[in-house]
Amino acid sequence: MLDFEGLRTGAGIFDVLSRAQALERQGKRILHFEIGQPDFCTPEVVKKATKKALDENFTGYVPAHGILELKEAIQDEIGVTRGFRPSLDQILIVPGGNAAIYYMLRAVIKDPHNEEIIHPNPGFPTYRAVVHYLNTGNISLPLKEENEFRLNPSDVEDKISSKTRIIILNSPQNPTGSVMKKEELVRIAELAEENDIYLLSDEIYSKMTYDEKFYSCSKHDECKERTVILDGFSKAYSMTGWRLGYVIGPEKIIDRMGLLISMTVSCVNAFIQKGGVAALKMKEPQEELKRNMMAFRKRRDSIVEGLNSIPGFSCLKPQGAFYVFPNIKSTSKTSKELADELLLENGVACLSGTIFGDAGEGYLRFSYATSVDIINEAIKNIKESF
Ligand code: PMP
Repeated sequence: MLDFEGLRTGAGIFDVLSRAQALERQGKRILHFEIGQPDFCTPEVVKKATKKALDENFTGYVPAHGILELKEAIQDEIGVTRGFRPSLDQILIVPGGNAAIYYMLRAVIKDPHNEEIIHPNPGFPTYRAVVHYLNTGNISLPLKEENEFRLNPSDVEDKISSKTRIIILNSPQNPTGSVMKKEELVRIAELAEENDIYLLSDEIYSKMTYDEKFYSCSKHDECKERTVILDGFSKAYSMTGWRLGYVIGPEKIIDRMGLLISMTVSCVNAFIQKGGVAALKMKEPQEELKRNMMAFRKRRDSIVEGLNSIPGFSCLKPQGAFYVFPNIKSTSKTSKELADELLLENGVACLSGTIFGDAGEGYLRFSYATSVDIINEAIKNIKESF
């Protein structure tokens, strides 16, 4: 039985945005830290390539798996960033990374009542929502602050049972900004192989690391046996509204996911895919990404320092993405109470850690996709109440 209410658990982030916008309509100044999207513009060359595709009437249906030009660009991209070249049949273009999570779980799970999915807690809400929706065994794995919010391979091992079908990994991670270490990922890939489990490696923030180097567990099987990489354009190239992502995986799983695409959206928008080709192949988007990451680093340092200066807050320095996940346990308020108070009294919109799972109690999530000035103003506003 499918559980539609389960899907609602994924909607918390947009609820906060609409509450913040309602306050703005009443004339209140709101500083936004709730939504996980870069505040930079999509690179000009990407827009130009898309406009050109439109002008050339590249506006019809295209193959359900994606256009050849984009798949070839992804082959090169994976070659450079992951160290192997997937076959064209291992690549699927998807309408955003979010959709790919649902398609992947649907493509793998056969008998929900006898299969389990292990996923990080706190974690990106779609994982939990889709696991609930499919009524699959739900094994959430708490990330510990003392382990800098990285998944611990021996904790993963403890949760593996004969029912485990999928382990979901996400590094760099939403909501904590943690980045897994190579040896941890290698160990989890070995565990997956030993126990015949699929790995969904959500690498949507793969290009967004600071000092820690990104490593992909896909190196282990080159996505031929069990690893499915999810990546896309939303975050690295500031293209959240374009709805463009891709998946690399075993041909059998990609074939099934492709059927789901074919029977739901038919294909991803033709001209949007041309924008994706430009994002990967032209040099300007990579240069912009470098500049954006320098700005994100400054913002990260400002927000971490600022949050640590507020009594009752303590905040680790994240190694990737653009999120911080401060511990607020000493304020003796629940995460939801404090997030509501910050929104209503201080005009600061951030998220309760519990939106990402019950292990997020005692934490808040701030997305620092905003200027250093706004960060400083928010810290000042919050400090006035503490
Ligand atoms: N995975 C993670 C961890 C995310 O944070 C997000 C977006 N917030 C996605 C996947 C989905 O990204 P999109 O659908 O925009 O490609």
